[in-house]
Amino acid sequence: MRKVFCLVFLFVLWGLFNGSADEVWKAGVAVCDITPPTGLWLAGYAMRDHPAEGAIHPLWVKALALQDAQGKTAVIVSSDILGFTAEMSQRIKQQVKEKTGLDTGDILLNSSHTHSGPIVGDSLIAMYIISEDTEHLDKIQRYTEELERKVVDTIVNAMEHLEPAKLFMGRGVVRFAVNRRNNKEAEIETTYDYKGPVDHSVPILVVKNVIDDTIRSMVFGYACHSTVLSGYQWCGDYPGFAQIYLEQTYPTAKALFVAGCGADINPLPRRTIALAQQYGKELAAAVTRAIEDNLQELPPSLKTSYETVTLPLETPLTKEELQQISDDTKKAEYIRRSARYLLKKLERGIPLRTSYPYPIQVWNMGGFPVIALGGEVVVDYAIAVKQRIEPNAMVLGYSNDLMSYIPSVRVIREGGYEGDTSQLEYEMPAKWKEEIEELILNAIAQMWAKIK
Ligand SMILES: [Zn+2]
Repeated sequence: MRKVFCLVFLFVLWGLFNGSADEVWKAGVAVCDITPPTGLWLAGYAMRDHPAEGAIHPLWVKALALQDAQGKTAVIVSSDILGFTAEMSQRIKQQVKEKTGLDTGDILLNSSHTHSGPIVGDSLIAMYIISEDTEHLDKIQRYTEELERKVVDTIVNAMEHLEPAKLFMGRGVVRFAVNRRNNKEAEIETTYDYKGPVDHSVPILVVKNVIDDTIRSMVFGYACHSTVLSGYQWCGDYPGFAQIYLEQTYPTAKALFVAGCGADINPLPRRTIALAQQYGKELAAAVTRAIEDNLQELPPSLKTSYETVTLPLETPLTKEELQQISDDTKKAEYIRRSARYLLKKLERGIPLRTSYPYPIQVWNMGGFPVIALGGEVVVDYAIAVKQRIEPNAMVLGYSNDLMSYIPSVRVIREGGYEGDTSQLEYEMPAKWKEEIEELILNAIAQMWAKIK
């Protein structure tokens, strides 16, 4: 009798830790230091005139793998870089597919868009003064290959460490993000009526250990440029500090920052390490507050989708117009350099773009929508998606491909940097057509309708 009881007890235990695991999430997290050596060029600002001199703190790539009750798996990657190019994403995803079977739509490659990280691939290369310096270009190439290897290994590592877990969503708020098109930076400390749209929400995913409820990982987003710092030391900027503070508060956890639709939003005031630390503390505090106040458990079901939508450009600049820009000494040197870059393409017989295959990724994580868009997406898109789909959605930019700014109809009509002049430095020979907003929003709505 005692033997039978023991057998039943063992069977129940086995059920608890194995059988029941089939009705819960499984999660695995892995991290890898990607701090480049000194001597590499920093990304994001054209005015830098020498390479990196050291690090304020390490740069990281982090991967969170999540598997639902049916065994469907997806991975979110956060990274302290300006952004992945389409080619980098493609290579990384192809290697992950070969090693794990995961499809393009199952891998979300987000970057924090830190402007104190390395140049990778040929991202914005025409903008920098080293755009024709083969020694620097070789270093960038070698670093990029190493980074891609590390991202692949980190994703595989996270998937090899899946354990039963609980998954929660939450929502915090923090208000240091300011619309940079509608407020003057130089007057920011005496501005009392900030103008323009912003998205101050902090969407959060939290992974807890299924047995003791310790926090293993949190993914948190914010829609604001990582541009507090513009110096010569590697740094994750305010998101880097936020991740450090969260990992100090929750020593059992890895914290992953994901960038939202903050293309027209800056952390203001800015330009000191103390401010980057302050905003990091504010963001970490918002995450901690949400963890204590409003976590909502998500059932273990996961659906992913991924599409590319063809976004049309206006009529490209002609050879003569590009030559004019290149010769115009009143224009900034990086703009003239970008024009020359496109001219060289034309000379080599490479036609200029008239459209772009734009990546959109939509996930349903137990009812929680995660929408990841390519490029530097202005905040109007996050607001529109939340109004049309779900107010608590996690809406990300800077995902899978950093091809250009993605302005709304409003911003295209207003013009300026995000609506017009940034196109050239991204090797785009024209403004976007106004219809891109509806093309993107309709695609998201249709994709969500299929998996909700
Ligand atoms: Zn940017």
